[in-house]
Amino acid sequence: MQGRHGSLFAVPLSEEFPIAGTAGVPRPRPAKAPASPAQQALVKLGLTRDIDLALHLPLRYEDETRITPIRGAREGDTVQIEVTVTASEVQLRPRRQLVVTVEDGTGSCELRFFSFYPSHQKTMAVGARLRVRGEVKGGFWGRQMVHPAFRKAEGELPAALTPVYPTVAQLPQAYLRRAVATALARVQLPETLPPGQEPPLARFDSQNGLQRPWNLREALLFLHHPTPDVALATLQDHSHPAWQRLKAEELLAQQLSQLTAKRERARLRAPVLRPQAGAGTGALHERLLARLPFDLTGAQRRVCEEIARDLGRPVPMHRLLQGDVGSGKTVVAALAATVCMDAGWQFNDTAPTEILAEQHFAKLIGWLEPLLAERGQQVAWLVGGQKKKERAAMLERIGSGVAALVVGTHAVIQEQVRFKNLALAVIDEQHRFGVAQRLALRQKLRSDGMSDSMEPHMLMMSATPIPRTLAMSYYADLDVSTIDELPPGRTPVVTKLIADSRRHEVVERIGAQVAAGRQVYWVCPLIEESEALDLSNATATHVELAEALPGVAVGLLHSRMPTAEKKAVMEAFKSGAMGVLVSTTVIEVGVDVPNASLMVIEHAERFGLSQLHQLRGRVGRGAAASACVLLYSTGDSGRLGETAQGRLKAMAETHDGFEIARRDLDIRGPGEFLGARQSGDALLRFADLATDTLLLEWARALAPVMLDQYPQLAERHVARWLGGHATYSRA
Ligand code: ADP
Ligand code: MG
Repeated sequence: MQGRHGSLFAVPLSEEFPIAGTAGVPRPRPAKAPASPAQQALVKLGLTRDIDLALHLPLRYEDETRITPIRGAREGDTVQIEVTVTASEVQLRPRRQLVVTVEDGTGSCELRFFSFYPSHQKTMAVGARLRVRGEVKGGFWGRQMVHPAFRKAEGELPAALTPVYPTVAQLPQAYLRRAVATALARVQLPETLPPGQEPPLARFDSQNGLQRPWNLREALLFLHHPTPDVALATLQDHSHPAWQRLKAEELLAQQLSQLTAKRERARLRAPVLRPQAGAGTGALHERLLARLPFDLTGAQRRVCEEIARDLGRPVPMHRLLQGDVGSGKTVVAALAATVCMDAGWQFNDTAPTEILAEQHFAKLIGWLEPLLAERGQQVAWLVGGQKKKERAAMLERIGSGVAALVVGTHAVIQEQVRFKNLALAVIDEQHRFGVAQRLALRQKLRSDGMSDSMEPHMLMMSATPIPRTLAMSYYADLDVSTIDELPPGRTPVVTKLIADSRRHEVVERIGAQVAAGRQVYWVCPLIEESEALDLSNATATHVELAEALPGVAVGLLHSRMPTAEKKAVMEAFKSGAMGVLVSTTVIEVGVDVPNASLMVIEHAERFGLSQLHQLRGRVGRGAAASACVLLYSTGDSGRLGETAQGRLKAMAETHDGFEIARRDLDIRGPGEFLGARQSGDALLRFADLATDTLLLEWARALAPVMLDQYPQLAERHVARWLGGHATYSRA
């Protein structure tokens, strides 16, 4: 092994200062002061264990394995030369600089340094033998290198490429190299894959016989110090088998911990909720089905069955219901609610915003309140702006169990409510919440009477479908149901991209729409840095439209308005009394006004793709032909940025929520897509879900086999990769 990579720990030579052997690097000790700035930096970067350092991979490599004759070095090449110093002087014009002339028998070259120390001059004294590495410039006076790396020419050339690591100012490259090399030499990497279960080597053609399985140790040694014959492109695009092995291991660790979490949850208990046999037409479930003004779509029926199966088992459901905007998730939740309440338990529905919660509430109430009242049961409603007295009464109803149906915003429910006997919680539009949040929520929702091993069922609903690879990785601990069909009779929304300079045409069109009895949304962007600015934008647009459209009722809705006012505006729009509603993104999800057939999104270039798709989903809910106008502004530069262009193009090209989600993931990457900041989950460092599907599938298939047949290997593998912060296994 060691031999194949030659002098693996050969001293790299691109630093000016002399480099000691690798033995002298102390292990960083996070707990004990005083640590040097470099040691502190290591801790800050999370490079505390040997394995952490071993997994700190180079950004790029420098080739110090060969010497180029000066005569053979072409302008623009970065080369290493081995030379003798023939002259050295400090010039003062045009600015102070050290100019060192060197030659190697084939030609000469000038080295220029604009900052230098006496020690540099000493190392580069006339007669000294040096190895110098830098980019060759052909000047009027011959070849030059500006600020090349140099050191005394001694010892053998390294056999491997020299790694250049990502680092910070307090942590010199040379120090980090030694730390990594020491860790690599010391780290224990016993094989954790079961025999015969090597990952597939995707996308790599079998040049040089590299198509054999690599173990992790070989892979890491190679990635830190590749042999110079490697095709650098395969290191850059991570298709090299050493990379494949690393990514496969990482994905396997993720799958193992997620599956462990899932299995741990399966050992918990939950109330068994089944449509009551013999209850017949008295049951809420039957009566709701009979009252629905429409037939369920095939997809709705299918997901209802999937949910019913889960609810009927004594194990907590942990299911994600995903379906495009308008696909009809609310009625599915309502049907699940009836099963829960029929069995004598409390049901809870939470939404991120008051407006959304209210809409759910209105729907659920409309369908269920009369039926509940007949049985002496009540409903409860909990949102932010409530009066103290009202809130207290609601909490009392919930705590005593009189309220069978509880609706409110995420925040209020999670902070304040103690349920008497909650059996099913529906969480709307919360798909970005990570494993850690889901865990906290589950514990929060546990009712007073429940033992530690008992939890309510949970149904999460999301209108942003999760791309398949994400569902298989970050959400592997969830079961997923998908509504992949819209209710019949929807007309597709025509999407137009229009430059802001043609705004007046759009306003004219609004006038025509309203005259034809239609309603219009006008959405202004939320400017994160400045709520005040965002408000003034919306306010100004409101004034502008009201002036341009005499005789049309133009309303304004924004997040800072008092609740009562918001409500009144929404009511006016819903009833049709208001023709145009100007708003910030508060209407982002869930608002349901079928008569609205035109949506204008101002500064569409500032919105995220999923956000745009959600907004567009607000129109096209009725039978009328609908349109979405994306007004964009190019600002001073006169052109849109590349990602903004990608988003707008995607919007114009497709209506398919899954395709949109896939492109969104492409554009933003999983960290942003998942909202990494709020999720707190460990993201993948090496694997790329866009390209490593094969490896992901391999890991997904292997994880259960390992947990069943090789539990010790599985445990060791997860410990290696997730170390102290194995979030997944706790959720
Ligand atoms: P979302 O999945 O975005 O939450 P909603 O549940 O708000 O969608 O449903 C959108 C609209 O479609 C609502 O007005 C709802 O009553 C209606 N709807 C739901 N299911 C059907 C169906 N099977 N047939 C006709 N209309 C339906
Ligand atoms: Mg909804």
